[in-house]
Amino acid sequence: MAIDTVGTDVLVIGAGPTGLTLAAELRRHGASVVLADAGGRAERVARGSGAVVLHARTLELLGPHGVAGELARRGHRAHAVHLVAGPRRTASIELHRLDTAHPYVLVLPQPALEEALLDHADVRWHHRVEELTDHATGVGAVLQGPGGPVTVHARYAVDCGGADSVLAAGLGVTARGGTTSVAVSADVRVDGDFAAGVVTAYSAPTGVVLLLPYRDGHVRVSVLDLTGTPPEPTLTGMQEAVDAIAPIPLRLSDPRWIGRHETTPRLLDHYRAGRVFFAGDAAHRFAPIAGLGLNVGIQDAVNLGWKLAYVCRGLASDSLLHTYHAERHGAGAKAMRAAESLNGLLRKQSVSPLVRNLTGPVMRRLLATETVQDRFGTLFSQLGLHYRQTPFSRSHREHGARAAGDRVPDVLTASIGDPDLRLYELLSRPGYLLIGCTSQAQPRAEREALADLFAQVREAYDGLVRPHLLVAEGLPADGAVPVLVDTRRQFRTRLRAQDGDLLLIRPDGYLGFQLPRAGAGLLPNLLGAWVVTHATTPALTPTHSVLG
Ligand SMILES: Cc1cc2nc3c(=O)[nH]c(=O)nc-3n(C[C@H](O)[C@H](O)[C@H](O)COP(=O)(O)OP(=O)(O)OC[C@H]3O[C@@H](n4cnc5c(N)ncnc54)[C@H](O)[C@@H]3O)c2cc1C
Repeated sequence: MAIDTVGTDVLVIGAGPTGLTLAAELRRHGASVVLADAGGRAERVARGSGAVVLHARTLELLGPHGVAGELARRGHRAHAVHLVAGPRRTASIELHRLDTAHPYVLVLPQPALEEALLDHADVRWHHRVEELTDHATGVGAVLQGPGGPVTVHARYAVDCGGADSVLAAGLGVTARGGTTSVAVSADVRVDGDFAAGVVTAYSAPTGVVLLLPYRDGHVRVSVLDLTGTPPEPTLTGMQEAVDAIAPIPLRLSDPRWIGRHETTPRLLDHYRAGRVFFAGDAAHRFAPIAGLGLNVGIQDAVNLGWKLAYVCRGLASDSLLHTYHAERHGAGAKAMRAAESLNGLLRKQSVSPLVRNLTGPVMRRLLATETVQDRFGTLFSQLGLHYRQTPFSRSHREHGARAAGDRVPDVLTASIGDPDLRLYELLSRPGYLLIGCTSQAQPRAEREALADLFAQVREAYDGLVRPHLLVAEGLPADGAVPVLVDTRRQFRTRLRAQDGDLLLIRPDGYLGFQLPRAGAGLLPNLLGAWVVTHATTPALTPTHSVLG
């Protein structure tokens, strides 16, 4: 039988939420993709409900794919999380204060998310990647499909094959683990005197019950067992567990899905082995308590997609790919620590009355404070995640940048033709944004030198770096470089930006670097870490004497 052979930039293994997002990101940034899944679409749907919680940062990152609005409409927006320890409410974590267009956790069944992502994907279902060979110039893979084997030659491969993927182990990548826990979940109707519309967590020595309300009136009920004898995955089993944990009567009925899940947390030691990368559950698995797995996986995919695409297109050097492990392994380790500490605290409470008596009142007081509320808000939104401590960000700061690695908020600006232009609208187009802050207070010669430098950047990077001048007030006619107005001073205030600052915003909405006026001469060097200019254009020539 003749073997089909396909060439592509990137082979994505697994069409779960991580693989689907990654494939969409790669295409959006101009790379070719083969996306293969060992199973079929129907099997994924039949697997059941899976994840239900989407965090604000995940929705922000899905924005450029045009699906965030639709998901927000289809899901239930829970603006608060109630924590109930013992007979009374310990705290309400208010999410509406979050600095985002999505100040809530979105409760939505995983299949609905996958359906939306599938609109942007072309999946080879029933194609299992069985052999993966990493050689100097690319990755060779053999896919076993219904029509026989298919050979794929890719420049890079990404394992998004979920928790059961064996590819990392096959490539010699080691992992560290955590404590196994069991959760039994059901999508049911719930009658009782609980706060409708918010997420509620009831905690007792024997376990935790989570209530996550769907838009259609059903509720995801999850029981995290702390006794070592988890409930039976039946309506009766769930009812008994809920009766034992919740301080108020709750009656469960009309089940449309019930499942039992045993999770042993795991984090790969390296997210990259040669030309193969690992993302999503293939790279990490967390204790289910914080609902992080799918969210962190989607964020891995968004972090990696543009980097791989630009390297494949010759627009960035391979060193950009090192940042994936540095940034996302750090994020995975942080998520694992957060989930493990929450799990650990619940377990300690369950075995030790002393810990329970001590932590109960202290927790109540702590959770009422704004600082701790903000901490929890950050966990349930993932908005506070940053890449400040990675080698790339640190090296930028050592070379004169004022800041690097922070999430850039979605501030309001104005441009010619759009008096209410959100920064994220600009970011929804592929490429980097380079913002130069200026105002009438700045000497004219400096303003002219900045406009000149930006015109050169525009030419040298051929649209991949899009420079914009950000003025404090008054919209001049667009010249060679587009102009934005910081109408409400949100940009300057939220990013602590001053006249003369140059800010590079990455395609995933994090700050590449923020250079103060005195460091403008360093711009070509710092830009060179992110993107390579095409050889025929002259090097940038910032006028040090004017800008510096
Ligand atoms: C009950 C439950 C509740 C959850 N709740 C939440 C929540 O509220 N929030 C949250 O963030 N997370 C939650 N999670 C976790 C979340 O479901 C997972 O983190 C998420 O599905 C991981 O997505 P993924 O794309 O990385 O992997 P998966 O969804 O596992 O997809 C992997 C795909 O790869 C394919 N594959 C594997 N090996 C190969 C191969 N060799 N070749 C080709 N294809 C292959 C598989 O067929 C599969 O389709 C929950 C999980 C469960 C079970």
